[in-house]
Amino acid sequence: MTEKRITYQRTAPERGYTDRVLRVDLTRKEIKVEEVSAEMREMFVGGRGYCLKLVFDGTSGGTKYDSPENVLALAGGPFCGETGFVGTGKFIAGTISPLTGTFCDSNVGGHFFPLVKISGFDAIAITGKSDEDVMLVIDGDAGEVFFTEAPAMDGALIGAEELVEEWRGEGKQINVAYINAGNGAKNTFFGCINSVYYDTRRKRCRAKQAGRGGTGTVMRDKGLWGVLVRCNAKRAGSNRPADRERVRRAGKNLRDVIREVDPNSMSLGTQGTTALMDMMNAFHLLPVNNYQYGVDEREKAVSGFVFEKEYFKQKTPDGCYIGCNLACTKGHENHKLLTGPYKGKRVGVDGPEYESAAAMTNLGVFSIPWIMEFNWYCDQYGLDTISTGVTTAFAFEAFEQGYLVEEDTGGRKLEWGNAELVMELVHETAGGEEGFASVLARGLRRTKLWIADRASKRTGRPESGIINALNDFAMECKGLEFSMYITKESLAQQGGYGFALKGAQHDEAWLIAIDQLNRELPAFEKKAVALRWFPLFRTWFNIAGLCKLPWIDVRNPEAKNTPMPARNMPTVDYYIEFVNGTLGTEKTLEDLLLESERSYTLHKLINLRQGFGTREHDNIPLRAMAPVFMNEFLSRKEYYEEYLTERAGLDIAGRSDEEMLKMLHGDRRERYEKLTDAVYSEKGYDANGIPTDETMKRMGLDAPEYMQIVRAARKRSGNRN
Ligand code: SF4
Repeated sequence: MTEKRITYQRTAPERGYTDRVLRVDLTRKEIKVEEVSAEMREMFVGGRGYCLKLVFDGTSGGTKYDSPENVLALAGGPFCGETGFVGTGKFIAGTISPLTGTFCDSNVGGHFFPLVKISGFDAIAITGKSDEDVMLVIDGDAGEVFFTEAPAMDGALIGAEELVEEWRGEGKQINVAYINAGNGAKNTFFGCINSVYYDTRRKRCRAKQAGRGGTGTVMRDKGLWGVLVRCNAKRAGSNRPADRERVRRAGKNLRDVIREVDPNSMSLGTQGTTALMDMMNAFHLLPVNNYQYGVDEREKAVSGFVFEKEYFKQKTPDGCYIGCNLACTKGHENHKLLTGPYKGKRVGVDGPEYESAAAMTNLGVFSIPWIMEFNWYCDQYGLDTISTGVTTAFAFEAFEQGYLVEEDTGGRKLEWGNAELVMELVHETAGGEEGFASVLARGLRRTKLWIADRASKRTGRPESGIINALNDFAMECKGLEFSMYITKESLAQQGGYGFALKGAQHDEAWLIAIDQLNRELPAFEKKAVALRWFPLFRTWFNIAGLCKLPWIDVRNPEAKNTPMPARNMPTVDYYIEFVNGTLGTEKTLEDLLLESERSYTLHKLINLRQGFGTREHDNIPLRAMAPVFMNEFLSRKEYYEEYLTERAGLDIAGRSDEEMLKMLHGDRRERYEKLTDAVYSEKGYDANGIPTDETMKRMGLDAPEYMQIVRAARKRSGNRN
């Protein structure tokens, strides 16, 4: 291939910003460096904010995930790469998603974006399509950016050490990292982006994933194998904060709290996020058999303690970037692959994270070796473990309910707990094989429609009726598969999933712990307030380029003396110090929340512009609110009887089980609608979920280009406000 190459003058970050975007057009093989306008920086900050703005400006209402103009945006934030603070390796990948048809993003850690930033860029915006697979190289040492042939690797992991070695430069440290999406991302709608870096302690490459929404699918659809960066500039102090001492102090305070609290509470430093397994199981929140049940006695075989004792044997700290002492990026060094093209090979497995482990319990699999197998192959292929697991679990239940038959599945009986079958489907799905696997490859929403069509033709029943029945247990919202929490008994988390702008992912509002475990949100009004405040503060982490876990999973001991301990305000104050120390400002929490709300509203506008974003798109399946079938109801009958009498205030005397289940459905649906009204009002939306003029003005988004979207959406929904 012809090499297209530019040279540029490397600009070091100043107070967190380089103020440059790297623009890449794969059709023309053009690479440009563009200045970031003061307005964009002021209004959208960085990270998700920049991704939203780049996608908003570069696309239109007609843009699909595979349109050449679709933008794959990658951005850290002003705090990304600061080695004196905690959790600063994060960046966001955002694009028009193949699953949802609108903006979806995912955050991921590692060394990639800190290296991009010291190479001189705050964001990368990729458009166009290349006929042949290429790799983009950012060489911060030479001040060059160029395309080169895609490496001969079929995934993210096998061959990673060789690739990194090839690019490190003679006698240099390994200051090389890359992102890519394996061949599975090309063949499915839920391809993830792997962020790969060399771990000097484990002496191998590690991979973290931007899992959700098919960002890897978009990358491969564009003919981009991946992006590699190398830069040997000094990292410590490279973010050039305004007040280094203030940043250092804030970082030390947060690290002290983590050191004191984590070993005696969540134990993320020793168990990683598998620490959640026991906790979720204890509170009926661990998904089992497509979210039918929340508890299972087999969970003890896959508890975080077993992971810690038997698999996470290497005791070195596992921060995904310099400066993080929460260090949750655990791994297993010696998994012998049981299936697939690399069967028999011994590999290092990164994670699993709770979500990947629970994706397997949701298929009835309670075995760590099989969880490792699933996790490693999904990473290698570039598949989101959540979407892969949840789509497959839905198909298993559709089979159990008789909507799918062996004739549809290539002669297979889809039975819970059959790990070999799960892996067979993973290999076929990733490999782009014809037949049933190619249906699963397009995600749950499309699988549901395919099943309804087949079942209707087979039985003569109307397709719409079958779709309605499947909707009750098809665990997706806005086209994105639910992440791994049972929400039947947490109204707040139902809203956390339903109102999330990208679809059913908990990164916008993970309220299950404070609502159901700690009972910190008992009143209805408090739930609505929380469903505004938490998404805004969580969104702030995504625009800042920071990891949320040190705030959300490590409760500062001083928090108990504050009016709302769940907000963890003493730790929030460390973040505010960090912000002001970096930028040389005196911003308050309210300022940060307003910045966050502006980006949040821009996301809402993109959803509306693409034809979504109104109330009906915030609906969630019945299974997310209540037991759907009698077996689920009977598994907690006493609990539900008590709920109906004590909490719902209903008279159940003489009622049959069927009648009680119906009463429960009615009660839960009504509560969700009431919550929707309350949350919309709290957020400044009308009853259809569209921002009011006043909200648009308050966000500074009242320019015609934004207002015309709101007006068109109101017209469509019959409300002229
Ligand atoms: S807490 Fe975990 S995910 Fe977050 S920055 Fe630290 S190691 Fe990375």
